[in-house]
Amino acid sequence: MAMADMRPPIESGCPDGFQYMHPTMRRNFGQWKYHTDPRPGVLCHVAESGEKIFTVKAGTQRILDLFTLRELTKIGDEFADGYIRFTIRSNIEFNVADEAKVEPLIKALEDAGYVVGGTKNSVTTLSHTQGWLHCDIPGTDASGVVKSMMDELIDEFKQWNMPNRVHMTTSCCQINCGGQGDIAINVQHTKPPKTDHSLVSNVCERPSVVARCPVAAIRPALVDGKPSLEVDEKKCICCGACFPPCPPMQINDAEHSKLAIWVGGNHSNARGKPTFQKLVASGIPNNPPRWPEATAVVKQILKCYKEDARDWERVGEWVERIGWPRFFELTGLPFTKYHIDNWRGARASLNASTHIRF
Ligand code: SF4
Ligand code: SF4
Repeated sequence: MAMADMRPPIESGCPDGFQYMHPTMRRNFGQWKYHTDPRPGVLCHVAESGEKIFTVKAGTQRILDLFTLRELTKIGDEFADGYIRFTIRSNIEFNVADEAKVEPLIKALEDAGYVVGGTKNSVTTLSHTQGWLHCDIPGTDASGVVKSMMDELIDEFKQWNMPNRVHMTTSCCQINCGGQGDIAINVQHTKPPKTDHSLVSNVCERPSVVARCPVAAIRPALVDGKPSLEVDEKKCICCGACFPPCPPMQINDAEHSKLAIWVGGNHSNARGKPTFQKLVASGIPNNPPRWPEATAVVKQILKCYKEDARDWERVGEWVERIGWPRFFELTGLPFTKYHIDNWRGARASLNASTHIRF
């Protein structure tokens, strides 16, 4: 086929964000002098040019139906300047150039049932992974966990009560997206996968599945005369990495898939290396529809952090200062053998930061 006849590639991925930006933002892009926080849920950015822009932030449930989206965009057209954007933590932000529009916009949002907040030293909305709606391997419903927890933490979203910002995350499998924040609520499988040998040869590409296991616990086997896979259960660390490429290796289990809570993760920045979160609670029941046990642990950690941390200490910095033994004393969480991290590979493979090293 001649080059001229070839179909041009279909562009996919994120569109250019500039076309959707508020004109004041576009004009002053990269030229901001400072910002202030006039009240919870509102930011005021001042540009070198002297122009100002106000941002009003409200929480959403993330997985939005069409009616909710229409309602939010209608509020954006009527009470803001017609520009919105979503943050990675499922908050919606409305931009206005005129300060007089801020209070009516907040009132319109609150009248419609939305909660304004999530800025500065508050608990902002939990970021959550796709869950059942888009992904094929979740062990829990991330959206449900987020909704249940944020219902209980609504006052912490609306006010500046915390020593510093609190970012929380959920992750509905053990291996892929999500799961890194000041507090992370992650699925924890506690049993090796159960294999449906009658399906493996039809559905799975066996070499990929074997290669995927981080501890080399899977090997090819003939079961009932059919090519299949077997798992050395003594080696298996129940990570669930074999389940995505091989759905017959089912690892999700109503009883044995639990939740675990990790604390103290943070990205690196110009001043510090990344900090990796540590396991503080494991084997918590994965208990829909309200996950009361996991919510109770998160609330207890937040209560101790609020009472004991110094101003502007993040959760991880607070724990580093007081020490992990004191953290377990304060929170009353039991310390078990499962909290001892004996994985040594992190020293080499996770040594990532924005610092230049030679
Ligand atoms: S955390 Fe895992 S299960 Fe959940 S959406 Fe991401 S990849 Fe899918
Ligand atoms: S769950 Fe993880 S460790 Fe266990 S067999 Fe599957 S890939 Fe290997």
